[in-house]
Amino acid sequence: MRHSLFFRFFLTLVLLGVVPTTIAALFLVATYHARIADAVSLEVARELLLNAAIQFFLIILFIVIIATFVAFIVSRNIAKSLGVLMRAAQKIAGGDLRTQIKVTSGDEVGKLAIFFNQMVSNIKEAQDRQEEISKLKSEFIAVAAHQLRTPLSAMKWSHQMLLAGDMGELKKVQTDILEKAEVANESMISLVHNLLDAARIEEGRFGYKFTEINLPEFLAHIIQEKSIFADERQVKLRLGEGAGERLLIRADPERLAIAVGNIIDNGIRYSLGGGLVDLSLKNEKSSAVIAVKDNGIGISRKDQEKLFTKFYRGAAVLHLETLGTGLGLFISKNIILSHGGDIWFESEKAKGTTFFIRLPKTPFPSFAPVLK
Ligand code: ADP
Repeated sequence: MRHSLFFRFFLTLVLLGVVPTTIAALFLVATYHARIADAVSLEVARELLLNAAIQFFLIILFIVIIATFVAFIVSRNIAKSLGVLMRAAQKIAGGDLRTQIKVTSGDEVGKLAIFFNQMVSNIKEAQDRQEEISKLKSEFIAVAAHQLRTPLSAMKWSHQMLLAGDMGELKKVQTDILEKAEVANESMISLVHNLLDAARIEEGRFGYKFTEINLPEFLAHIIQEKSIFADERQVKLRLGEGAGERLLIRADPERLAIAVGNIIDNGIRYSLGGGLVDLSLKNEKSSAVIAVKDNGIGISRKDQEKLFTKFYRGAAVLHLETLGTGLGLFISKNIILSHGGDIWFESEKAKGTTFFIRLPKTPFPSFAPVLK
C-alpha cells in the first residue's frame, strides 16, 4: 500500500518536473543552435552543447532527488493516517466498539477521524440499547415462564385424574376432548421448558453432569420416546446406519437428549405429515457424527443464516406450525458446543434437511459457551 502510494507520487512528480524541463531544453537548443554554430568554431560549439547536456542531466537528477524526497514524505504521512484508520476499523470488525481514534490534525484526515469516532459511538449506543432490550426481554420471559409452570402442572394433574376415571366414568366424547386438552397442555409445558432452558443458558446456570454413554443405545431410546409423536404425524422414524455398534462418548444424557430431541422433533414437524426421519451414526477417528435426515419442507437460503439465533422461526413455518418458540435450535447448539462438539445442516427447499451433530470421543474441555 505504502509502496504503491510512494511510487504513484514519485512518478507524478518526476513527470511534472522532467517533461517541461526536457521540452524547454529542446526549444533552447533548436532556437540557438544555428546562431551559436555561426558565431563560434565547431569545437567551441560542441563544448557549449556538452556543457548544456551536463547541466540538463544535473537538473533532471536534482528533480528525481526532490521527487523521491517529497513522494516519501507525503506517502508516509498518508499511509500513517490510513494505517491508524485501518487498525481502528480492524478492532471494530473484531467487535471492540470502545475503539476511538486520537484526532491530531484539523485537516481532512482529522475530520475523517472525528466522523469515524462519531460513527463508532453511534453503533455502540445502538448495540447497548439492543443488549438492554434483549436482557429485559429474557428476564420477562423467565419470570413469565416460571409463573406459567405451576398452573400448567396443576392442569396436567387434573387432566390425568379425570382421564384415569378418578372422578367417575367419562363418556367417549368427554375423554376425546380431555385428551386434546392434555396434548395442548403438554405442548405448553414443553414451550415453558424451552423458555426456562434458554433463560438458564443466558444466565450461565445451565449445568452439566457428564458421564459415559453408548451413543447407539442412547439414540434408540430417544427414538422410542419420539415414536408416539412420529406416529401421530404419520412420519416413519428410524435409526439406520450405525445402529448395532458400540460407540462410547462422554455426555450429559439428559441435556444431549434435549439437543437431539429438538432436531428430531423439527424433522417430524417440518415433514408436514408422512415422510421419513432417518437417523444415522458415523464412527469417525476422533468423533461420532449423528445425522438426522428428513424429506420435509426444507429451509430457504434467507432463513439458513439465522437458524440458530434465539427466537428465530423460518417464514415458511409460521403459518404451518403455530406452536413453536424458535428456541429449539438455539438450545441444541448451546448443548452441543458445551459437549465440545459442533452442529450444522444441509438443506434444500421442498426437498428436505439433514442436521449433523459431531461429538468428540476423547475427553473434552468442560466449557459452556453462552450463545447470544
Ligand atoms: P421452532 O421449531 O420452535 O420454530 P427451532 O429453533 O427448533 O424453533 O427452529 C428454528 C427454525 O428452523 C424453525 O422455525 C424452522 O423454520 C427451521 N427448521 C428447523 N428444523 C427444520 C427442519 N428439519 N426442516 C425445515 N425447517 C426447519
